[in-house]
Amino acid sequence: MPMNSGAKVPFLELGGQYRAIRSEVEAAMARVVASQRFVLGPEVEACERALADYVGSAHAVGVSSGTDALIVALTAEGIGPGDEVVTTPFTFFATAGAIARVGATPVFADIDPATLNLDPATLAERVTERTRAVVPVHLFGQMAELPPILEIAREHGLVVIEDAAQAIGAEREGVRAGTAGRHGCFSFFPTKNLGGYGDGGLVVTDDASRASTLRALRVHGQSSRYHHRFVGGNFRLDALQAAVIAAKLPHLERWTDARIANAKRYHRLLGDFAARSGGRLALPATVAEGHASNQAAGRHVFNQFVVRLADPESEPHRSPGDRGERPNLRDRVRKRLARAGIGTAIYYPVPLHLQPCFAHLGYRAGDLPASERAADEALALPIFPELAPDQIERVAQSLREALVEG
Ligand SMILES: *Cc1c(COP(=O)(O)O)cnc(C)c1O
Repeated sequence: MPMNSGAKVPFLELGGQYRAIRSEVEAAMARVVASQRFVLGPEVEACERALADYVGSAHAVGVSSGTDALIVALTAEGIGPGDEVVTTPFTFFATAGAIARVGATPVFADIDPATLNLDPATLAERVTERTRAVVPVHLFGQMAELPPILEIAREHGLVVIEDAAQAIGAEREGVRAGTAGRHGCFSFFPTKNLGGYGDGGLVVTDDASRASTLRALRVHGQSSRYHHRFVGGNFRLDALQAAVIAAKLPHLERWTDARIANAKRYHRLLGDFAARSGGRLALPATVAEGHASNQAAGRHVFNQFVVRLADPESEPHRSPGDRGERPNLRDRVRKRLARAGIGTAIYYPVPLHLQPCFAHLGYRAGDLPASERAADEALALPIFPELAPDQIERVAQSLREALVEG
């Protein structure tokens, strides 16, 4: 088999990007060190202004991580014990973890299997008189179907907090990720599309009074020095991270275009094969899809390129980690790709409603079937902007061979 020939393709490699912009980021970092202003200050303010402009929001507040962005936004809305917040179980843990950390109860709706994003119909079913907010996630860089979500929120008086950690620059129907809800939360974790050199995050909002609450919350709820309106925390964005992020921001459009070009290349190489695979291979849409009429209106920014690999005859796993008698198609293909030197990742192997830490919420395997199936079938292929065309060809070729083996 030709599968062991050729160079390895890493799942993600950040070094190439660093080498390309090294002088710019190092100058930015040196400027911060020379100034000896490491906490908030002008670098953070400049970064916030640039990000507010890019995202298309009136106010942007830098915080310590994407997780803390969610915690600060939920806290700013006074959400806490006794409150329910509806979200998707098919996301990074932080989405639901932040809800639990403020003392509220995460309530899980199911996903739309076509987009892997929160399904508005099941969201509507989950709303009770205790529901205070909904947290749609723009998963993998594709925006959730916001219009019906916003409509349900309006109807029931819910706050919308967008988890846009994976979706900076994503658009749909002229709306940019993070700007449709009351708050939009972003992450600068190094693997995100705009990654810092450590942890960092951002909350955006169009509401000036919310913005001032967010700013207070990140410094222990302080209104003026040593006077505390409420209990916040230390949720500040480092000046060093702000300088790095601001230096990288002018490159983001180019990197996003490269991710989209890579996704289109996968489609050219694998589209026909997927169409003839009898449902065993499904590719993500190359645009943020919604209704057929406005497909072209969206921009999927491909933080991840996640294909689905389905055993047509198999049942979803009955419990997390239950791999049955034989590994499923996704796990078999992943192992073969690893042998061929192709890096892949699984986002996310266990949906959040089946996590041990949420066992007390009483969900059972089978409750959210679309999410459980996605957890069994999703496989992320390399998509980072610096991938070369021949590397993508190698991934596609190896994936075809691995699937032919069955
Ligand atoms: C990365 C991520 C977060 C958390 O961001 P951190 O900066 O790692 O804390 C939250 N939600 C989603 C969907 C993410 O991908």
